[in-house]
Amino acid sequence: MLVVQEALIPRLVTADDAFEAVSNCLAAMARGEARNFPVVREALGEGRQYGFKSGIDLSAGMLGVKSGGYFPGNAARGLINHQSSIFLFDPETGRPVAMVGGNLLTALRTAAASAISIDRLARPEARVLGIVGAGHQSVFQLRAAARVRQFERVIAWNLHPEMLPRLGDAVAELGLPFESVPLDRMREADVIITITSAPEASLMSAHVSDGTHLACMGTDTRGKQEVEPALLARARVFTDEMAQSVTIGEAQHAVSGGLLKAEDIVPLGAVLTGESPGRQSASEITLFDGTGVALQDLAVAAIALANAKRLGLGTEIDA
Ligand code: NAD
Repeated sequence: MLVVQEALIPRLVTADDAFEAVSNCLAAMARGEARNFPVVREALGEGRQYGFKSGIDLSAGMLGVKSGGYFPGNAARGLINHQSSIFLFDPETGRPVAMVGGNLLTALRTAAASAISIDRLARPEARVLGIVGAGHQSVFQLRAAARVRQFERVIAWNLHPEMLPRLGDAVAELGLPFESVPLDRMREADVIITITSAPEASLMSAHVSDGTHLACMGTDTRGKQEVEPALLARARVFTDEMAQSVTIGEAQHAVSGGLLKAEDIVPLGAVLTGESPGRQSASEITLFDGTGVALQDLAVAAIALANAKRLGLGTEIDA
């Protein structure tokens, strides 16, 4: 098997690659050609989470698993809090094919999923981007969103305001004005990305204007929550993976509270294949519950593997 180290990934996979790969895998899921297996996600104590996301895509010949999680003590050690590795297997024989560093790939594929939702569901004339959160993923989210809409300014809120200048620097690199705002000023945003590890809602329904598209990307575990359930009741809700949305995604709270019916949630892949309509009016709120699925990880890892082979990079080992 080929070991593709984390340090090689920036040379092997671009944001464009991730956008295309995630679009393809969401569409393959909607066509029933690919499926994710039930997620294992366990609390280890002190805020640490560890688990496995695995799946198979017969159309792309991919079988594999991402193992890893969220370790909030890492920042103090100079490491990013998210840590993961992706293992690819031959779907015919089960033999291991590659182990690929999963940290940057997770950021790229998560930002790609969010950007695909913005591309398909936000109003074309969206000009103000709001971001709730300013951690590691937020900068990737910003850059991916800026590729699909002509934003004129970015506003952001974070529980820990000392983290906002790093996001502000990334906004400045895009040549856009940046302002740190209280949550109620998120009403100015046409698109809002939430990307926090919050255990309770920060963004309330009253903070969001009609016509907004939200990409809720932070909630990927039972018990996490970024937005008020009433906001999901007010929105048309889309997701990457139905089973995950109602159990570990943002929709878990609205569904368990009886504010949203699971059957009313639309797979984003069905919008990509044309099976379901996307935005239906300029005034409706659309909300993408991005839970993060294994197939996204496998898709970007497969690109890393192919490019590593082409460039003669990585370390071959007997497994
Ligand atoms: P990070 O640790 O770098 O940043 C955490 C962010 O959450 C910071 O902005 C912090 O201020 C904020 N935060 C912490 N506690 C909060 C609270 N109680 N209320 C409001 N905000 C709070 O994390 P990251 O790598 O940027 O990841 C952010 C979240 O995204 C995590 O929950 C992570 O598990 C999740 N994530 C989801 C996917 C997906 O596919 N959906 C992929 C990667 C990460």
